[in-house]
Amino acid sequence: MTSPIRLLIHGANGRMGRAVRRIAAEDARFTIVGVVSRSTPEARVVDGIPFFSDSELGGVPEFDVAIDFSLPEAFDGILGECLKRGAALVSGTTGLGDPQRVALETASARIPLVWASNFSLGVALLHQLVETAAARLPGWDCDIVESHHVHKKDAPSGTALTLGATAEASGARPHYASLRAGDIVGEHLVQFTGQGERIELVHRATDRDIFARGAIHAAAWLQGRPAGRYQVGDTLG
Ligand code: NAD
Repeated sequence: MTSPIRLLIHGANGRMGRAVRRIAAEDARFTIVGVVSRSTPEARVVDGIPFFSDSELGGVPEFDVAIDFSLPEAFDGILGECLKRGAALVSGTTGLGDPQRVALETASARIPLVWASNFSLGVALLHQLVETAAARLPGWDCDIVESHHVHKKDAPSGTALTLGATAEASGARPHYASLRAGDIVGEHLVQFTGQGERIELVHRATDRDIFARGAIHAAAWLQGRPAGRYQVGDTLG
């Protein structure tokens, strides 16, 4: 049996970081060598996993891959540490500035990495289906309807806009509509309408764990890959 993948979790006390910790702890492919969060931990070891504050990042044990769901101000630190160690990086941290996006591209010449604003494997596949439909149905109307819980402020959602960008790159001219209702985790409908017929491609998220699972899937997929910038879609079977 091959040895488990040594995983570092960065941004470990956030909603996403906690989900990654919970799911990765039950995944035999991984051993969690450490978790890093902003604040100094109250306990150094929890359930056998060592905790570190961000100022201690340089002293974490060796790792093969880091999963990062933190904040833009924390991103440079984890990217630099992965470069220093030659480790892979999976990051879902959003709101990166232009210099950080450039730094990601530059880093991909030296380490394998996946950065994505949405780690759902279903949404990754939806992109591929939208690309096909938009390219094969020229002249059809393309409409993207996204639905989220009432607390979500931005509209259209970032995922709707990236789906729209995919459709546009294949020749469609998407229009957007947004619904805010109840506790909907997230739904994206991409609809292509022709004369007398219509295709509806829809993804419904019912659980935020899908993002953590997608990131963990990407971390396993990156093992043994050459340096490069990969997309979540590349990790699909
Ligand atoms: P959160 O606010 O609950 O957690 C952020 C975490 O980052 C906190 O634990 C905080 O302590 C940690 N952090 C801040 N500064 C740090 C530092 N200097 N070093 C180490 N850790 C530090 O947010 P969240 O809901 O867990 O989301 C985290 C990020 O992931 C956000 O950017 C969010 O938009 C993004 N996100 C991405 C996806 C996706 O699929 N790509 C899905 C959900 C959320």
